[in-house]
Amino acid sequence: MNCKTCQTTLPYLLLDPAAAKNAAARAHIAACPDCAQELQSLQKTMSLLGEWEVPNLSPYFDQKLTVRLREEQAAPPAGFFERLHTRLQFNTGRQFRPALATAMAVMMIAAGGGVTISTLSHTASVTESAPVKDLQILDKNEQALQQVDQLLQDNSPMGADSGAAAPRS
Ligand SMILES: [Zn+2]
Repeated sequence: MNCKTCQTTLPYLLLDPAAAKNAAARAHIAACPDCAQELQSLQKTMSLLGEWEVPNLSPYFDQKLTVRLREEQAAPPAGFFERLHTRLQFNTGRQFRPALATAMAVMMIAAGGGVTISTLSHTASVTESAPVKDLQILDKNEQALQQVDQLLQDNSPMGADSGAAAPRS
């Protein structure tokens, strides 16, 4: 028997020191000072607990308790938010863990989906627009230059007359 298995049997040894199943533990404790000290401290704790006296209750404890219970029974039932508040205040949070995990998974999926959608739309717009827009701008510039050329050519003989006539009238 090693120290670890010996110390797991120490409570049984305390409760029933003469039992036959604790013979191996007794033999180990006789040879091992560490486990003997552990057993001694446990025995001290047990004797202290034996000496401990429970404080006397107040003589009106039962009456006060029944009065409180009747008041709670007669009180109107707690509302939804009050019950939720008590539950949040006194629980360990274990029952909310699945819900929390689900919420986090949903958030991660939503965030990931949003990122992929945005990257997809971004790349799509970039691949479409860059050359097409350049060509469109060049086309518009050329059209504008042609229109200016046409205007200059058309108005060159009459330009002096019409330009001079407009402010006078
Ligand atoms: Zn030991």
